[in-house]
Amino acid sequence: MSDDFEGLRAVVTGGASGIGLATASELAARGARVAVLDLSPDVSPPLTGVRCDVSNDTEVVAAVATAATTLGGIDIVVNNAGIGAQGDVTANDDTEWHRVLDVNVLGMARVTRAALPYLRASTSAAVVNTCSIAAWQGLPNRVLYSASKGAVLAMTLAMATDHLDDGIRINCVCPGTADTPWVGRLLDSATDPAAERAALAARQPMGRLVTADEVAKAIAYLASPLSSSTTGTALAVDGGMYGLRPRPR
Ligand code: NAD
Repeated sequence: MSDDFEGLRAVVTGGASGIGLATASELAARGARVAVLDLSPDVSPPLTGVRCDVSNDTEVVAAVATAATTLGGIDIVVNNAGIGAQGDVTANDDTEWHRVLDVNVLGMARVTRAALPYLRASTSAAVVNTCSIAAWQGLPNRVLYSASKGAVLAMTLAMATDHLDDGIRINCVCPGTADTPWVGRLLDSATDPAAERAALAARQPMGRLVTADEVAKAIAYLASPLSSSTTGTALAVDGGMYGLRPRPR
């Protein structure tokens, strides 16, 4: 069984930056035709950019149709677009809750819903959702973000069972803190960015941040025929954060 993507057609949301860009590039390097759906889809060939706000259903329906026409169908959906939210339960009002859940949870449901007819027609259909360690572990000051990723995990399992007989495998990855532009922005806003980076690294037993490429390779595995018996599961890419205790270094 091959781990290449020759002849396969993939849609990656949030594919213009960080984990999404690394994933789109990995799939393309292995032979897939890839459309990136993003708010600012400024990507270089061979990737094709399609502007899409995943919180807008009309845009999602149009962008998925455009991607399917451009690629000649869709075999793989990587639901990766997501936004952050910080603070305890008092930190975000209802408007902010709706905004984050609309992107992080409904965004993945909308894109999957729009892509379903194409996935049903594929003989190698896979959906991979970017979840987070925050779905499993109580991280400080991340109530809203964690709620959104908990929903992504549960939604992944529920969708996987619904679409078993359609031949569509649906899984998610749970990254720990990954070195992406998002985390860069977070560190830039800290009082002491170097100390904050060291604290985030120390939280992961391997003592370092995960790279976007490492998450991309895990997503590629779940999207490829190599994982043909795997559906309804979550793969941690977290430097050991979920299973191990951080150790003093
Ligand atoms: P990033 O900010 O570098 O990239 C996110 C991309 O999503 C950007 O290109 C952005 O334009 C796009 N995007 C944002 N809102 C969108 C919308 N409404 N519609 C379409 N596109 C939109 O972030 P990243 O760190 O690569 O994170 C990607 C995913 O990984 C997110 O779902 C995030 O929750 C998850 N994640 C990240 C980390 C981490 O430490 N970086 C850890 C766990 C999970």
